[in-house]
This record gives sequence, structure tokens and C-alpha cells, in this order.
Amino acid sequence: MSWHENVEDFGEEIEPGATFRFECHPGLSCFGMCCATEITITPYDIARLRRHLGIDTHGFLSTYCQAFVDSLTGFPSVVLKHNEDGRCIFLQNHGCDIYESRPSCCRNYPLSKVIGDGGKSGQRLTTYYLQRRVSYCKGLGRGPEWTIDTYCEQNGLWPYQKANDIFIEIPFTYETLPFSIRHDKEVQSMIYQAVFDFDRFFEKYARRGPSAPPEDDHDMIAVLTRIVLNLINRTAGL
Ligand code: SF4
Ligand code: SF4
Repeated sequence: MSWHENVEDFGEEIEPGATFRFECHPGLSCFGMCCATEITITPYDIARLRRHLGIDTHGFLSTYCQAFVDSLTGFPSVVLKHNEDGRCIFLQNHGCDIYESRPSCCRNYPLSKVIGDGGKSGQRLTTYYLQRRVSYCKGLGRGPEWTIDTYCEQNGLWPYQKANDIFIEIPFTYETLPFSIRHDKEVQSMIYQAVFDFDRFFEKYARRGPSAPPEDDHDMIAVLTRIVLNLINRTAGL
């Protein structure tokens, strides 16, 4: 299994330290075209976006997202809704309406960070890919020169990667469940509620548990991950 932050074909592998050119600004004729792609969001994306919008996870998910289940792994996923014109619900004439809180996937492009399970080593393997051949994207191969690190820094990706690297253990562990459990609708619904609608999940959990969820989003993702991994392991024992 592998997990990546961009659901499109993610291009060619790029070595750490290699450089690439890319620019993106409203003056390009393609501005906003990329916002017609499918944008997968992570729990940390939701944490940032729901605060930005002043709503809870339930309101965010029902207004701005569509959920689906991966037909292979059975793991629930969430993507941003599209408007009738087929473009992202947050795209306005001036550009992205939630730019400061845009999701990991949008920040990463044209890079994709792919995490593999590393086989017998038990270590997670991280590989970066660079998108080079999106025909409509005029920013590829031009503009400033970047490395992976300078691009991540410029796009505020470090806190997103830190949180997503914690969360990633959930889909990896979920995939170790037997097929019949992974594809059980009740199990999928339980995982969806816990992983994505976490404000409500914590509300229910806090009624039984000793404390409220941490205010810091990274701490919250870490606590949530521990709880969900426990849930998965308990489910596996049924
Ligand atoms: S340059 Fe590429 S990423 Fe930027 S708006 Fe155009 S299509 Fe989107
Ligand atoms: S969140 Fe913003 S940048 Fe990302 S697809 Fe939507 S409008 Fe485009």
C-alpha cells in the first residue's frame, strides 16, 4: 500500500536535492484550471479549514465535501465538492477563497509526497514525485528554481506533513484488516466518523473519557490516531 497527497497521476520521481522550475500566479491563462481536479483532504486539512471557516467538522463535511470508499482498501476518503462548472467549491474569480488554509494536496502541487510501507523493513518509505506533463499547466518548467525543501518551506507544508505523517498510520493499519471487515459498512462508517468528523467523535468520546481533546491540532491528530488505531485493533480482534 502507499498513501499520497495528490490523487492525480503524480508524475516522475524526483531525488532529494534535485531542482525544478515552477511558477503559479493569476496572470497565467491556466489560472484555476487545476482546481477542477479531485482534491483529497486529510484530517489536518479539515482541522485547519474548519477553524478558518468558523464551523465544526460536521458542518464542514456536509457543506464542502463528498465522501467515498476506496474500492480496493475499503478505507473512507473525503474530497472537496465541485461547483456546477466542475471546479472546486472554494474557487472564486479572484482565486482560492481559502488560500491561507488550502489543503495539503493544493500546497504540494506540482510535487506529490508518496509514502510506502517499506516491506519487511517496517520503515515507511517516502518518495517525492514531480508533475511534469499536465498539458494545461503553464507554470511547469518555468519561473523560480526550487528544491523539495525550498518548495515545501515556501508553501507552508511542514506542519501539514508533520500531521499527515502521523495520520498515515491509520490507513496503513486499516489495510491489515481482513477484506470482509474493511468492506463492512458499519466499520467504514465508524472509521469515517472518527477520522473525519472528529469534533463530533471527540464530543461522544469525551463523555466517556477523562479529558477534552487537545487544542493544538498536531496533538489532536496524535490523540485521534491513537484512539482510531485502538479501535481498528479492537475491531480486528472481533
Ligand atoms: S500554473 Fe498550474 S497550478 Fe498554477 S493555476 Fe495554472 S494550472 Fe494551476
Ligand atoms: S482549495 Fe483552493 S487551491 Fe485547492 S482546488 Fe480548491 S480553490 Fe483550488
